[in-house]
Amino acid sequence: RVAYVNGRYVPHREASVHVEDRGYQFADGLYEVVAVRGGLPVDFALHYDRLCTGLAALQIANPLQRAAWIVVLRQMIQRNRVRDGILYLQVTRGVSPRNHLFPHGVMPSVVITARPGSGPSAESISVGVSAVSVADIRWRRRDIKSVSLLPNILAKQQAAEQGAYEALLVAPDGTVTEAGSSNAWMVNASGEILTHPVGHDILPGVTRMVLIRLARAAGYTVVERSFTLEEAKVAREVFVSSTIAYVMPIVSVDGVKIGEGVPGPLALALRTLYVGHVAGITPA
Ligand code: PLP
Repeated sequence: RVAYVNGRYVPHREASVHVEDRGYQFADGLYEVVAVRGGLPVDFALHYDRLCTGLAALQIANPLQRAAWIVVLRQMIQRNRVRDGILYLQVTRGVSPRNHLFPHGVMPSVVITARPGSGPSAESISVGVSAVSVADIRWRRRDIKSVSLLPNILAKQQAAEQGAYEALLVAPDGTVTEAGSSNAWMVNASGEILTHPVGHDILPGVTRMVLIRLARAAGYTVVERSFTLEEAKVAREVFVSSTIAYVMPIVSVDGVKIGEGVPGPLALALRTLYVGHVAGITPA
C-alpha cells in the first residue's frame, strides 16, 4: 500500500507528517472520505465542492488544482489496486512552530490514503441496526468537515459500548441533528421522509444530497425539516446515510423498536436507488 504525503507517494507504513503539523497539534484541518466503486471515485465533484467550501471557511489555500486532485486520486486508486473501497483526503494548515495564530508563508499539508473495503455486511442491512441517543456537544459549525472529531468519537464509542451501531446526536431542544458519522432520517405517519435542513447544525452529507435528489425523482416526498428524538421513536422508519454505509436502516432507538423492528420499505427503496446511482458512476 502507498500513501500520498505532500506530493510524494510513499509506503503506507512509513507515511508520516511532522510533529508540528497543525492538524496534529490543533486539529486545524479538514478531511473527506470518498467511496471508490469499480475503480472510480463516487461523486468526487460533490466532495470536492464541500472541501473547497471548508477550506475557504478556514482560510486555508487549496494546495492542488482540481485537475491535480483528480490525477492524484486516480493514482492512489491504481497504485493501491482499489476496486471497491475508500479514499481518505486530509488537508491541514501546514507545519509551523506551535502558535494559535495562522502562520505566514506555510504550505498546507496534504495526506491521502486509499483502502479496499465494501461497507457494511449484507446481513446488517437486511436485519437493520440499533442506535442510541447521545447529547450533541459539538461546536456550532458542524457544516465544516473538520478533523476535530472528539465529540463524534465519544458518541460513537458510547453507542458501541451500549451495543449500538450509531449514536443519534440530540440538541438541547430535543432535535436530532444527525448521527455520529452519518446523517439521520425518519419517515413519519404520512409517509414523508424527513431529514434535518442544511446550515451550521449538520454536515451537509454528500449521500444525503444525492438521496434527496434520487428520492424526489422517484416520486417520494422528502422534507428538509428537523425532527425530535421523541418523533423518531414513534416513526415508521429511521435510517442513516453516509459515504461508507450508503443507507443503513435503524430498527431500534434507545431500545425502543422502530416500526415493525425490521428495515423499512422506504429505507430499502432509497438504498436500492443509491446502489443504482453508484453503479452508474462515470470517470470524473
Ligand atoms: N454527518 C457526519 C457527522 C459525518 O461524519 C458524515 C460522514 O462521515 C456524514 C454526516 C455523512 O456525510 P457523507 O454522506 O458526505 O459521507
